[in-house]
Amino acid sequence: MKNYEFWFVVGSQFLYGPEVLDIVAKRAQEMAAELSKSLPYPLVYKVTAKTNKEIRDVIREANFDENCAGIITWCHTFSPSKMWINGFANLQKPYCHLATQYNMEIPNEEIDMDFMNLNQAAHGDREHGFIAARMRMPRKIIAGYWKEEGVQKRIGDWMKSAVGVAFSKQLKVMRFGDNMREVAVTEGDKVEVQIKLGWEVNTWPVGELVEYMNAVTEEEVDAQMAAYEAKYEMATDDIATVRYQAREEIAIKKMMDREGCLAFSNTFQDLYGMEQLPGIASQDLMAQGYGYGGEGDWKVSAMTAIMKAMGENGNGASAFMEDYTYHLVPGAKNSLGAHMLEVCPSLAAAKPRIEVHPLGIGDRQPPARLVFEGKEGDAIVVSLVDMGGRLRLICQDIHCVKPIMDMPNLPVARVMWQAMPDLETGIECWITAGGAHHSVLSYDVSAEQMKDWARMMDIEFVHITKDTTVESLEKELFLNDLAWKLK
Ligand code: MN
Repeated sequence: MKNYEFWFVVGSQFLYGPEVLDIVAKRAQEMAAELSKSLPYPLVYKVTAKTNKEIRDVIREANFDENCAGIITWCHTFSPSKMWINGFANLQKPYCHLATQYNMEIPNEEIDMDFMNLNQAAHGDREHGFIAARMRMPRKIIAGYWKEEGVQKRIGDWMKSAVGVAFSKQLKVMRFGDNMREVAVTEGDKVEVQIKLGWEVNTWPVGELVEYMNAVTEEEVDAQMAAYEAKYEMATDDIATVRYQAREEIAIKKMMDREGCLAFSNTFQDLYGMEQLPGIASQDLMAQGYGYGGEGDWKVSAMTAIMKAMGENGNGASAFMEDYTYHLVPGAKNSLGAHMLEVCPSLAAAKPRIEVHPLGIGDRQPPARLVFEGKEGDAIVVSLVDMGGRLRLICQDIHCVKPIMDMPNLPVARVMWQAMPDLETGIECWITAGGAHHSVLSYDVSAEQMKDWARMMDIEFVHITKDTTVESLEKELFLNDLAWKLK
């Protein structure tokens, strides 16, 4: 990950005189330094802006600074907001309005007009908020005392979403082969996606990957096998098959690194010259932060990479997932998610096992894969679909459980969950919205973060929660359709 940082831009005006402005600047500096200790990325104090030009200058600088992933503004004092128009009109970075106050308390005995002048966020932040509302700017508003843990957590979460934006705008996706034949939901407008989300989605021949695989040395395979054995439990005697996966992983990684790609897709229908569908090869690459999508699903691959980048330490517990089958027994209703092979071990409850089994689909040799159970906990599943003319991001709250049966003959990694608001309504909502069978499942990234990301990307966001009904969702989608046609 890059060394991302956020800029703290404070609004004021000359009316207060140099003494007050000096205090504002000092306090803003103190707040940025103090907040940086608990935030995932540094908050750098930039300026106490008093003029249109100062604001334009700092925003121009932010736009061009590779490390600046967003700006956070605050109005300790009153900053007449017409002076923000020219700057804001050109802002190309994510923007958060922190509505906070330097002092926590109103000091009963000491409060006088000097104190009032220096604790004016209550009206300064309203003037400041108006202009962004008037200009219809995408923004995050976070209100609360800046030293409060909950406030800091929300700023940190937003920062991670903003890093997801920066990451998205530079993301390159490597496709090996096309999408699975005839499948609709994995298709999409790659030109529109690049305009909106920044992704460069291009294809490379599987034959070139095979050439790279043939050039991998035995020493390289030895090193990769040692890495597997350090992280995973070798639960097979078929070492040659695992070594073949190691060779695939090294070759895929070399090609992606050569092109600067951080996500890839392939399809079992196009493995010409390869003996196995990449299993552990894809899983281990995901564990390192690369995005992956099966059956040529480049959208879910890119979303996996982005959500990983938004997670803890720039590589959170997020994974390519697929709705597979249901347990419809009253009182124990669950969804079972898995894939043919490729589920990221970042979801695992315990050390994954390396196993070799036949694939049951396609015409290749039995591949080695990691088998494990997903961990228990609250999570989300996310699907990006192309609605024709716009992109829709669908997010559903779920609760992952320890699988209620051990399924000893299921040869793949599995996650079991309860969808919100309940299994049947959850399915009806997901299908109503057009959500795919592929998704990104994340324990690390929240629905609010995905909403913020979608807003910054200017795409539609649909959230299925414990309170969603089919009726309310249908209404929302109908209105969204109208709104997005007008946009
Ligand atoms: Mn699939």
